[in-house]
Amino acid sequence: MAKSPETEHPLKVVGWATRDASGVFSPFKFSRRATGEHDVQFKVLYCGVCHSDLHKAKNEWGNARYPLVPGHEIVGEVTEVGSKVEKVKVGDKVGVGCMVGSCRQCDQCTNDLENYCSKMILTYNAVYTDGTITYGGYSNLMVADEHFIVRWPDNFPLDAGAPLLCAGITTYSPLRYFGLDKPGMNIGVVGLGGLGHVAVKFAKAFGAKVTVISTSINKKKEAIEKLGADLFLVSRDPEEMKSAAGTLDGIIDTVSAHHPILPLLGSLKPHGKMVLVGVPEKPLELPAFPLLSGRKLIAGSGIGGMKETQEMIDFAAKHNILPDVEIIPVDYINTAMDRLAKSDVKYRFVIDIANSLKAE
Ligand code: NAP
Ligand code: ZN
Repeated sequence: MAKSPETEHPLKVVGWATRDASGVFSPFKFSRRATGEHDVQFKVLYCGVCHSDLHKAKNEWGNARYPLVPGHEIVGEVTEVGSKVEKVKVGDKVGVGCMVGSCRQCDQCTNDLENYCSKMILTYNAVYTDGTITYGGYSNLMVADEHFIVRWPDNFPLDAGAPLLCAGITTYSPLRYFGLDKPGMNIGVVGLGGLGHVAVKFAKAFGAKVTVISTSINKKKEAIEKLGADLFLVSRDPEEMKSAAGTLDGIIDTVSAHHPILPLLGSLKPHGKMVLVGVPEKPLELPAFPLLSGRKLIAGSGIGGMKETQEMIDFAAKHNILPDVEIIPVDYINTAMDRLAKSDVKYRFVIDIANSLKAE
């Protein structure tokens, strides 16, 4: 008979899980593997709450495996390392983002693009190489291969920094890869949530002029005064969108729900690039005419490789780029998810795991 999640491995772990598509979280006991020779074990201190956690918890992408323990913006302190680990030592601060495994041999892996490896293993809701299900950072203890561990920069805040492990790399990587990181460029950021507000910060750090395109007029003042955005457009206001026609070199679209992309394509310059990073439940409509008039490009981007993730964290620490977070105890997660669904968070919930999730 197959063992239960609580007994299949030696390390006892407590977390919070959803058991079905209702998306309601409750405490859940499971286990993790003993620290292997290439593994790093760490006590989880903080974990960010990504909209992907909500999509998955509610099975909006149709691939949920329950019980499901989300969390892929995980930071903590190393408690044990395997005999062959070189990257970190006990007591070091570390992070784990969206993936914990890949084949390490294919063209993608050997080019530091583990995120595009066909055998990439996600931090939660995936099947690990030993056949067991992966569980994320809404839990008190983590074990991961050192290759997928990020070294945390000295004196860089762990709580506010945690969301960089997903929201950070997911926006940093396309800005870099698509050449949208040149000073003076006009960059649009669609959706001012967890990913969007970090995109604004990176684009500003690269020297861009940033236009936020949002449905929430109540985010305007802060977007300009606090986040440093240069312009704010209400996406549902056709006049405002028309005023921006043909002005943007690139767009990072972080929207989590179905939305019209025609007005967004209209705001691109000729040769402008629109990169989708948000993953709405239903397909978007892609009109051909506005793309071909102006040879515009539409693309997608998914997180980033480990080398680039480390580069992004080091860049963020150097330039003091930190997400704006609301710190919550783990038993607030159901309320937090309801608020996240309504775009009611400025701009990322981060769970204070160490102070609110006690191992029994
Ligand atoms: P989030 O904090 O909820 O932000 C999404 C934003 O989208 C909201 O704040 C809202 O911004 C806007 N929005 C929501 N509903 C909308 C609607 N009906 N029409 C137009 N705009 C709407 O979520 P997040 O954590 O940033 O994640 C955003 C998306 O990226 C999710 O789908 C997530 O799964 C995906 N994601 C992808 C990757 C990747 O590798 N590509 C990685 C992480 C996350 P305004 O209030 O400003 O309108
Ligand atoms: Zn995420």
